[in-house]
Amino acid sequence: MRERERECEMTATAATATATATATATSSSAGKRKLDAKSQGGGVENQGRSTKSKRESTHHRSSVKAIKGQWTQKMEQLDVIGIVLRLCLMNALMTHWSHAASIPKIQYQNMMGGQGLYNASDDVVILNATNFKANVYGSSKSWLVEFYNSWCGFCYRFAPTWKSLASDILSWNDIVVVAAIDCADDDNNPICREYEIMHYPMLKYFSVNEHPPSLGVMIEKGDTAESVRHNLINRLEMEQQEGRGSTWPNITPYRNVEVTDAWKTISSNVKYFFLIFETADSNLGAEVILDLHRISSLQIRRVTTDNELLCVMSKVTKFPTVIAFGRNESQKVVSVRVPTREGIRRAIKDYAVARGVNIDEADATVSHDVVEDTEDAQQTPPAVETRKKEEEEQKKDQSSKDDQSSRKTDDYLYQLDLESALRYSINHEIPLTKVIDGEKMEALRRYLTLLAEYYPLRRGNAYLDVIRDIVEKRSRITGKEFSQLVKTTEEEMSPVYSGPPRRWVGCKGSTSSYRGYPCGLWTMFHTLSVNFALKQSKHTSQDPSAVLRAMHGYIGNFFGCADCAAHFVKTASENRYLDVRREDEAVLWLWRVHNQVNARLSGDDTEDPEHKKLQYPAAENCPACRFANGSWNEDEVLRYLKTKYSVDAIKYDGIDGYGDDDNDDGALNGNDSKVRPERRAKELKRITGFGWDLNVFDLSICVVWYITSLAIIVLVCVKFAVKRTYKKKSHMNPLSKV
Ligand SMILES: Cc1cc2nc3c(=O)[nH]c(=O)nc-3n(C[C@H](O)[C@H](O)[C@H](O)COP(=O)(O)OP(=O)(O)OC[C@H]3O[C@@H](n4cnc5c(N)ncnc54)[C@H](O)[C@@H]3O)c2cc1C
Repeated sequence: MRERERECEMTATAATATATATATATSSSAGKRKLDAKSQGGGVENQGRSTKSKRESTHHRSSVKAIKGQWTQKMEQLDVIGIVLRLCLMNALMTHWSHAASIPKIQYQNMMGGQGLYNASDDVVILNATNFKANVYGSSKSWLVEFYNSWCGFCYRFAPTWKSLASDILSWNDIVVVAAIDCADDDNNPICREYEIMHYPMLKYFSVNEHPPSLGVMIEKGDTAESVRHNLINRLEMEQQEGRGSTWPNITPYRNVEVTDAWKTISSNVKYFFLIFETADSNLGAEVILDLHRISSLQIRRVTTDNELLCVMSKVTKFPTVIAFGRNESQKVVSVRVPTREGIRRAIKDYAVARGVNIDEADATVSHDVVEDTEDAQQTPPAVETRKKEEEEQKKDQSSKDDQSSRKTDDYLYQLDLESALRYSINHEIPLTKVIDGEKMEALRRYLTLLAEYYPLRRGNAYLDVIRDIVEKRSRITGKEFSQLVKTTEEEMSPVYSGPPRRWVGCKGSTSSYRGYPCGLWTMFHTLSVNFALKQSKHTSQDPSAVLRAMHGYIGNFFGCADCAAHFVKTASENRYLDVRREDEAVLWLWRVHNQVNARLSGDDTEDPEHKKLQYPAAENCPACRFANGSWNEDEVLRYLKTKYSVDAIKYDGIDGYGDDDNDDGALNGNDSKVRPERRAKELKRITGFGWDLNVFDLSICVVWYITSLAIIVLVCVKFAVKRTYKKKSHMNPLSKV
């Protein structure tokens, strides 16, 4: 309930701030349209921008702030009823807008590494937001789920291990199912947030018949399928000791000293009872028990070295040893040629077959029994059809755009890469954190400030300003609230971006599992550092390390690839990122650290064969960047970086209306004739039929103020009337003066 209230409040605040930003434009005396003003205000100052537009931009920014301030003050003066009224009205309006406003809602698609790291031919069960809970909760099996991120190099490297584990223990899948869910898929974002997945890959174990609110138990990842299997066995054993998994084969150590007792509970079709003697830290016995548990004619238990008496009585001195006990109390050591899992399995089977035991596996057919798509099942068939059609059309559109843009993969800076990275970062990655407070909140504020000041959004940064300003006022925010804030603000100020999400141009990999977001994030960081340096050289007021501090905070607290983040944070402190004294040093610092990562990853599995990890910039792109002896000429490198990553150098390939022509200038400065009409047309749809430049929100606010003022006037009149009546009465009654 409280969460819902907070959500309501966030929505209202976002709407208020957004409306305030738009209101500035509305009230412009020059009668300018609000979107023109918005795109002028708060935008990154392109070097080529005219002084006039800069003045207008500054004026717009200050008026946005002034109006925001006035608005906040006015709102604070409202009494409790007013606030409640406002919140409810906002909420109603938000619902209304989402239907009324003709903003195209772009379905987020999983296009980058997005097809996921697993497919139907793997033994890994693929989960998603719609089937996750239906499967892992209330299940007769346990679930071991990998939460991964398809763009994360560590997940990419771990995928073969996970597939190999799934195949290796496929015969255990009536006990435990190996599954995976891609947290890079926007649709899965709420699940990954809910389950508090803060690094990738993360393994979680859900026990038999688990129920909400359980979020599963983390299982150590390990580097090999074997180490994960051992961690899983330890977990299963613990579960059994705690009384769960009663239908599983018993993998807890045999504690009795008498074998005759065991026969009392063994079914009559079992002729031999095998004991595997092993050291206390060994998992061999449990593995063999689980491997052979479908053979109903065999009964196997494990004995560990701490059952000393049974070891002595059975004369076992070497581990592992397998002893077969017959019903007739005979006892024989089973010959194990190779003391491995496979060797012991073989030896037991051979022993049984030689004595005429049928070892056919019961129910050997393996099925995953995935409960499917509850959401799609609930939707009417046409709704599902429409959604699928929309997705297919978007895919077609994407691939034709990709074909056009993939030809341009030289060393250029592309607007679409920058926007896709920003979008993924704020719409997807930050909201994955369940609660943002303390150090994380500080990191978020720094990051948003950096973005609002130095990010080159094509239509101006008012959108980022609004988000930053709202977050600035909070001491904590949940991921869900942040997600809501970003979405609401985006819808209100639409269009904010130049293309659909996750459209990569320079960062497009040769296949979907390469490049994408991490490439986009580096690109965005370099652009921010250069823009910071170019701006700061004009007004040197900020700490030169501020840009690195903000990036460091983001990587350390929000970047989904935990191992990458750990490396980066370590490298940053080793390379004393806070010691940079000039903005140019910050640009070079980031370049050096990125080159260290490139060197580490060169030749790695995650390297795109068509985009090798080089020491940047490549010699052919910048011959002057290296001295004759091969060492860096840092002055030239700096010049190169400042040219490549400057806002003026941005290319607009892949954006509608900005095709292949290299000379296309997609930059908007508020006067761009190519884009303004398009925005104006969209904005017109939001304007009511009164012929004024007012939207639904503006009018609703007027109505609220009107009703409030009316109520106050009525109250004042009533008060006066009561006072006058009272005075009259007391005047007429002489006794009252006594
Ligand atoms: C902060 C951070 C840390 C990371 N740490 C790891 C890690 O530890 N392990 C791991 O597997 N992956 C890590 N990654 C991901 C990895 O660095 C790459 O981003 C990913 O492998 C994609 O590589 P790419 O070929 O697209 O080029 P990227 O390395 O992503 O580079 C993107 C673009 O930046 C430009 N560029 C390259 N080098 C420089 C430079 N020195 N200066 C300026 N511009 C440059 C090039 O134009 C290049 O196309 C990290 C990513 C980030 C953002």
